[in-house]
Amino acid sequence: MIPIAKPIIEEEEKNAVMNVLNSGMLAQGKKVKELEEEFCKISGTKYAIAVNNGTAALHTAIYATGIKEGDEVITTPFTFVASANSIIMQGAKPVFVDIDEKTFNIDPDKIQEKINNKTKAILPVDLFGQVADYDKIKNIADENNLKIIEDACQAHLSEKDGKRAGCFGDIAAFSLYATKNMMTGEGGIITTDNEEYAELCKRFRHHGQSEKTRYEYFDLGYNYRMTDMQAAIGVEQLKKLSDWTETRRKNAKLLTESLKDVKGIIIPYEVEGNKHVYHQYTIKITDECKLTREKIMDKLKENGIGFGIFYPKPLHLHPNFEKLGYKEGDFPISEKIAKQILSLPVHAKVSNDDIEKIIKVFKENC
Ligand SMILES: *Cc1c(COP(=O)(O)O)cnc(C)c1O
Repeated sequence: MIPIAKPIIEEEEKNAVMNVLNSGMLAQGKKVKELEEEFCKISGTKYAIAVNNGTAALHTAIYATGIKEGDEVITTPFTFVASANSIIMQGAKPVFVDIDEKTFNIDPDKIQEKINNKTKAILPVDLFGQVADYDKIKNIADENNLKIIEDACQAHLSEKDGKRAGCFGDIAAFSLYATKNMMTGEGGIITTDNEEYAELCKRFRHHGQSEKTRYEYFDLGYNYRMTDMQAAIGVEQLKKLSDWTETRRKNAKLLTESLKDVKGIIIPYEVEGNKHVYHQYTIKITDECKLTREKIMDKLKENGIGFGIFYPKPLHLHPNFEKLGYKEGDFPISEKIAKQILSLPVHAKVSNDDIEKIIKVFKENC
């Protein structure tokens, strides 16, 4: 079986966790600090603040930018639910904007029409490992005095014009969940250049206490702290992330070379100047394909090849978002794309033989 995702756990990770266990100091401590310092190097930001998962990272980032009850935050309906849930957690309303068909990311040209006097921020998602169109998004944000909160949960080491994911907005959130490009089991990290935001993040993860003065509560906070066991895994993973990313890109390139000529298959689109890190390698299957998506999935299953549909239904069509007044037809591109997408394995443990096997299924059937 070639799985769609595989956490890589080697001797280094195991030893690092054992060292923390043997030290007896398990909660947030010096390993968390080390992870934060090392992570700054991959995002190119001044500050990184570790928390216990990516959703907490988003919630914390949204808090730090001052979003509160009654505010509106613009985001995409074609994402993992946490992008929108974290807005609701802060009492604000997610306002959806449809995506660009080629990149799967928010369409900047459709943002302006959704801005009103309640709008406080734009929360673009760097979906599948490719950063959003921040040139256009930044112009709109500047003109309308909006913050940008980057959901970089799938985009570790992704680049645009030589700049790294995590630095495109006022603040960004990464996930270190088990299936992400690097992981700590569960985990998350916030990046920013803003010293005030960094301080607010540290408070928010720790019940509203400043790390400078204990037992003084400045605002509502949560227990969003990461443990040193998790951070120890993360420090080791960071050392290998660059190699893993190159393997993902190599695997993606091999798939693309063969799939680009298959009728009815649309390969992932990498915007010029972008470095896509292929958290997911996602193709579209159109009506021109000899087989339906369901038939292709059956063939993959028969051949022991894992796959995924990220995501089967855009967020606005789920009951918890229909409550906000959304309905079918509101975001036609997202609705269409959700029926066409299929993600194939490209992670660092996918071998050249595995890639051959995947290609064979398409060559023989499509
Ligand atoms: C994984 C993910 C999250 C949330 O991360 P968790 O660590 O699972 O809480 C948020 N947004 C996107 C786009 C993600 O892929």
